[in-house]
Amino acid sequence: MPLQILENVILAPYTTFQVGGPARWFCAPASRGEFAEARAFAEKHGVPTFILGKGSNLVVSDAGHPGLVVYTGAFNGVSWEGARATAQCGALLWDVVGQSVERGLRGMQNLAGIPGTLGGGTYINAGAFDQELKDVVTEVTSMRRDGSLAVRTGEECRFGYRRSLFCDAREWILETKMELRPGDPSPEARAMLRAEMEAIVARRVARQPLHLPNAGSMFKRPPGNYAGALIEAAGLKGFAMGRAGISDKHANFTVNLGGATAQEIWDLTSEVILRVRAHSGITLEREPIFVGDFLPWPRP
Ligand SMILES: Cc1cc2nc3c(=O)[nH]c(=O)nc-3n(C[C@H](O)[C@H](O)[C@H](O)COP(=O)(O)OP(=O)(O)OC[C@H]3O[C@@H](n4cnc5c(N)ncnc54)[C@H](O)[C@@H]3O)c2cc1C
Repeated sequence: MPLQILENVILAPYTTFQVGGPARWFCAPASRGEFAEARAFAEKHGVPTFILGKGSNLVVSDAGHPGLVVYTGAFNGVSWEGARATAQCGALLWDVVGQSVERGLRGMQNLAGIPGTLGGGTYINAGAFDQELKDVVTEVTSMRRDGSLAVRTGEECRFGYRRSLFCDAREWILETKMELRPGDPSPEARAMLRAEMEAIVARRVARQPLHLPNAGSMFKRPPGNYAGALIEAAGLKGFAMGRAGISDKHANFTVNLGGATAQEIWDLTSEVILRVRAHSGITLEREPIFVGDFLPWPRP
């Protein structure tokens, strides 16, 4: 069976913000061979591509994407060999973290609750509470535009704060290999590791507006400061424009108050950047990827 390519698939349900228009073409490869087929389709038709994981770090424009969107959710296997794991790009980070903790392995427990995939996490070097994926990644296999594969060590991936070589390389990450640290195998130590993970999840639930659609932290942490504190100091906690708002629970979360458009999220976050700069002199940088075209703010 050749790879199924669908037309005009609405992307909003594939993102945690629940905004975004249609993908002109859409596919969900389940094997390396099918990813190569997707590459060949895009080359043959001369269309741009976009690789989509769990859509938890994304704002897709209301006009959608004019090319082929490649959804990774069907390529999601994880295998373990001792303290080493190999995860396909569509595997959920949260699942891998849970499995590592069940095996008594340390190194990822603080990443519990990040709702993305291994592919999306590797792309941005996802991290939380002093742990980052780069601490455990040993090897990444990716697919270039011509369908050939590249295999890189963790070091060669040039991980930094919320970035990696893949942010520039435009390659599709297919597999990520990780190595964790075996912990004390006693039942007590394992129970403590599980408790550490559960405490992280509880902190997220207590601090984050998880009842409303969002894409996690809206702005990167500026050097020596916190985006949430700067937004709050500028008097913007709870501020809303249209149906997009700044959470009154955590000021670095922009939330969809119900039926927001992607443009409203762009306008609101643009206004926040302007007001925070006017208040503190610091220019905030958005963390999620904004895909497609947005009208400028303020409007000319
Ligand atoms: C409630 C909430 C809390 C969050 N907390 C955190 C946190 O603590 N720390 C943190 O770092 N992030 C956090 N995030 C953001 C997000 O979950 C992570 O950045 C996650 O790693 C994104 O993965 P994804 O699969 O959803 O990627 P997507 O949103 O689908 O894509 C994001 C980018 O990655 C690219 N990409 C996705 N898959 C691949 C692939 N296979 N190959 C190449 N590129 C790919 C996409 O093209 C896009 O540019 C949070 C988000 C939410 C909603």
